Amino acid sequence: MKVLVIGGGGREHALVWALRKSPQVTEVLCAPGNGGIAQLARCIPVDPGNLHEMVNIVALEQPALTVIGPELPLSVGLVDELVKREFRVFGPTQAAAMLETSKAFAKEFMQRHDIPTAAHAICVNLEEVHEELRRFTMPVVVKASGLAAGKGVVICNSHLEAEEAAAQMFSGTLLGTAETEVVLEEFLTGEELSFFALCDGTHAIEIASAQDHKRVGEGDSGPNTGGMGAYSTDGIATPAMRQWLLRNIAQKTVDGMNSEGNPFKGVLFCGIMMTPRGPMVLEFNTRFGDPETEAILLRLETDIVDLFNASINGTANQLMIQMRPGASVCIIAASGGYPGKYASGKSITGLRTTGEQSDDVVVFHSGTAIKDDQLVTAGGRVLAVSAVAPDLQAALNKAYAELAKISFEGMQFRRDIAHRALRQEPK
Ligand code: AMP
Repeated sequence: MKVLVIGGGGREHALVWALRKSPQVTEVLCAPGNGGIAQLARCIPVDPGNLHEMVNIVALEQPALTVIGPELPLSVGLVDELVKREFRVFGPTQAAAMLETSKAFAKEFMQRHDIPTAAHAICVNLEEVHEELRRFTMPVVVKASGLAAGKGVVICNSHLEAEEAAAQMFSGTLLGTAETEVVLEEFLTGEELSFFALCDGTHAIEIASAQDHKRVGEGDSGPNTGGMGAYSTDGIATPAMRQWLLRNIAQKTVDGMNSEGNPFKGVLFCGIMMTPRGPMVLEFNTRFGDPETEAILLRLETDIVDLFNASINGTANQLMIQMRPGASVCIIAASGGYPGKYASGKSITGLRTTGEQSDDVVVFHSGTAIKDDQLVTAGGRVLAVSAVAPDLQAALNKAYAELAKISFEGMQFRRDIAHRALRQEPK
């Protein structure tokens, strides 16, 4: 079968890589793809925010399955348009994707369905922010309601700081677009966990859990990024805890969306804080995470096409997802200056070609391009160096050894990926 993947980052490279391993797949296309994906799939240029362009590609190419990577195509309703035209597509409808595209919707939804989350207030102007702040102790979390590529959350230590952050969100100076809603949230403490569930509108089943590293600097310092690395292990949560998260968060969300007439299909990524009061939802994403996917898919033993089909057909309850035991990691090599200003077009050396790579160490491309037959940087996050092994330390050793061979001008990466888990891992 012919499969089209929409998107062009490390997550999509990992999806294309997993699809290429499936005996059910004969051809993979990717729109727009990137310099690394081009080695595995035919890439088609597209603007992932342009609905017509994307629909036209599907109509022209007639893939048997379309898989949507990023949130932007979901938010503009690509799934709805493709379903209308009777194409098979993996991902949620625009209405179901509101769990991610509107934090205000997600908070009210969780309240309606008794899903544990931080106390909050939704404000539509600065007067409301001023008024509601009285109910919060400091620090308080101020969140832009709409999509913000990880930049819409500000932790504030005073009312004044919170009002300033909200003002910048309403005016558009923080994110480039003016927000109509701002969410104030109780500050939670604890370990963070990303829990991934496959959903088919009725059922939710567990895929895996992971942890990512959002801050640019070692020791979790410096500004937030899209993610500087991630890891996934068997022991990241106990089997009892995973069951609890599946039942009380993922399945409850699927049931709630179903009862409201917006069945949720696709990947539900639950960002959880393990607080002293129990697990609480920080946010939902309605797609695979980046860079968690680059770590998780290395461990996936089940044919990924079976996951997509189970979600589309409503048969996820009949699927057992097998993950390779042990651990996997992903370390991001980023451009110097990221997440601030950075240069592009720097030539990358030391990469093995796809043919030379093993299935245990894979370098996925996040932001690369081919210029004059040379692979160059083309984004803030450039490469996602990923490895799988029987334990975390071995996976890290493999990934860092691979990374040591690679260089480009200004390259930066964190040397402490999975540091907290490593301290807890039994010797
Ligand atoms: P979000 O995009 O909502 O997941 O937020 C991004 C990051 O901000 C999370 O991964 C947390 O580290 C932090 N964060 C978000 N909400 C809270 C909260 N209520 N309390 C503490 N930290 C938070």
